[in-house]
Amino acid sequence: MKGVGPKVADKLLKLGLSNQRDLLFHLPLRYEDRTVVSPLGSLQPGQRSQIEAQVLQSSVNFRRQGRSRRVLVARLADNTGMVTARFFYFSARQQQLFEKGNWLRCYGEVRMAQGELEMVHPEAELIDIDHPPGLPTTLTPIYPTTEGLHQLTLKRILQQVITKLKSDGIGETLPQSWLDQNQFPGFTSAMIDLHSPQSRKDSELIAHNQHPAQHRFVVEELAAHRLALLERRRQLRSRKTPVIVNDADQQQRFLVTLPFALTRAQQRVLAELLQDFAAGKPMIRLVQGDVGSGKTVVAALACLPVVGSGYQSALMAPTEILAEQHYQNFVRWLEPLGIAVVGLVGADKGKRREQKLAMIASGEAQVIVGTHALFQASVEFHRLGFIIFDEQHRFGVDQRLALQRKTRGDEMPHQLIMTATPIPRTLAMSIYADLDYSQIDELPPGRKPVTTSIVSEQQRGSLIERVAESCNQGGQVYWVCTLVEESEALQCEAAEMTYETLTQQLPLLSVGLVHGRMKPRDKEAIIAAFKQGDIHILVATTVIEVGVDVPNANIMIVENPERLGLAQIHQLRGRVGRGGRESFCILLVKSQLSEQARNRLEIIRSTQDGFEIAEKDLALRGAGEVLGTRQTGEMSFRIADLMRDQKWFPQVEALAKLMQQPQHRSERAQLLRNWVGERQDYTDVG
Ligand code: ADP
Ligand code: MG
Repeated sequence: MKGVGPKVADKLLKLGLSNQRDLLFHLPLRYEDRTVVSPLGSLQPGQRSQIEAQVLQSSVNFRRQGRSRRVLVARLADNTGMVTARFFYFSARQQQLFEKGNWLRCYGEVRMAQGELEMVHPEAELIDIDHPPGLPTTLTPIYPTTEGLHQLTLKRILQQVITKLKSDGIGETLPQSWLDQNQFPGFTSAMIDLHSPQSRKDSELIAHNQHPAQHRFVVEELAAHRLALLERRRQLRSRKTPVIVNDADQQQRFLVTLPFALTRAQQRVLAELLQDFAAGKPMIRLVQGDVGSGKTVVAALACLPVVGSGYQSALMAPTEILAEQHYQNFVRWLEPLGIAVVGLVGADKGKRREQKLAMIASGEAQVIVGTHALFQASVEFHRLGFIIFDEQHRFGVDQRLALQRKTRGDEMPHQLIMTATPIPRTLAMSIYADLDYSQIDELPPGRKPVTTSIVSEQQRGSLIERVAESCNQGGQVYWVCTLVEESEALQCEAAEMTYETLTQQLPLLSVGLVHGRMKPRDKEAIIAAFKQGDIHILVATTVIEVGVDVPNANIMIVENPERLGLAQIHQLRGRVGRGGRESFCILLVKSQLSEQARNRLEIIRSTQDGFEIAEKDLALRGAGEVLGTRQTGEMSFRIADLMRDQKWFPQVEALAKLMQQPQHRSERAQLLRNWVGERQDYTDVG
């Protein structure tokens, strides 16, 4: 291609553009209208305009500001009016361009300064006013670019691609009848419309995401992803898988040891899991259940028939604290039934680790509970039949695949993914089209609602008094310090400071501290002491965000909650309200909170429904942030936006269905190549 040397190619790569197809999908940020020249007399402040005018006078002025700066000022005029061009930095070439007498064509934003119209840093070119160069007939696209790659260079490259597209066209990937039916434009014309819209009306539609060309690509892209996921699922489901036979007696023996009865929702989901096991196809199921709905015990129950059928189960947790807690629960629940449980975390080293690895490899360990340490190459399973991913929004698909590959032979283990992050159904359908979906939509009986209040920094003193009073009555408190954005180190420091103040102010109470920089052993000891009730107030960073379960704790204090996502605060709040005590969540805020921040926290205060919070959080922050970048990284869309484009989901589903028909086989392959690429995770499962 013309104008693409190694240097430019390098910059293009930085933008993720390595071929013509990538370039086509590198769509403009906005458009400029250079199809007309505005007489100076018609200029309006605030508008970007193109003018043709003569330089009446120009000068380089100095102004002092810190150090002295040179400013180029030129007075321009046509026969209808005047405008000032102003440059706060400029090249010798620009200075020459603005020499008195020259006729220029300029483009820039017009503004009003001291009662006069001016353009700051307009683009300018020298023209012959008797024979001015022709004007473009379409709007001029402005592309997202990167440092060192000039807009003009990028524009020229893209022009070549578009010209080639105009002359050669490109194979249509979608059935014509479907396009007609939905009144969507063909591929080539849609592309041309987006890169060089014919009219201001077009560009306005585009700016508001209302252009048919955009709608076509949104639906196409989402359908392509859906197809890729369905294909992945089809491949996965065609694999051989362990045969797992249920043992009702053993299940009964487990259930009678529990101090509670399963809720109906837990029973229903367990039955779904057992059905999957019996179906002879690999299970791949997402279980969503709000914080505290009791997912862990369901997972433990599902391990029973797996072990009974001669296979190992593995449970993976996102943090060491959580892995430790799960390990203890599993030991307590499963060992009485004669099942051997082994815990494996990153901190296991040396001989201890060797021993555990040997037990896992020999099959002596029947249920293995751990963190991402389970992925390590040195971990070899004897016969892995079932993998549980707890709070999986912290794990990416890549990691899931890595663990699947840990099976020997050609059997695909069953997979269960558990999450408290509620995902609106429509969204789940497109992100998790490859998974089956269950929901524990009921909390265990007797849960008291948590009263949430927003308390300002000035009331810290009386808050501490209240905390002490509650502890004296047997309650326990989490005090969470957040400074996530800055750094983990700072967050730990903040927690240490709070810990010290509280220790001093409350000498009669026992205060504990846990943060991410402590040794795992120390963390475990503190959490264990808190569980036993030896610690009244646990000062912590967000390391305790997910999963931690201490039913006696009844007050959750979150400092600087405005720094957290709503779903995250909801998770934290879910740590309390688990026992019989009346529970409180206190959001401790700086007094000068912005209106917007206050409104966000108000959502948390006013509802305890995880779904409602997630929907609002999604709307405020977008899918990427709520679901975790790693997870949506696999779902990075070029054009579509899961939140914004929800209204198109019915069309997406219909299109995906249509493309699955055998007569569209080759178009389907092209569609996947265009939008999903030859990505490993879609083609090579396990
Ligand atoms: P999550 O779904 O958030 O992972 P957990 O599995 O940690 O929730 O369960 C939260 C608490 O509820 C635990 O103490 C657990 O033992 C308890 N629990 C689970 N199921 C029930 C039930 N059916 N009735 C009463 N308590 C239950
Ligand atoms: Mg949990």
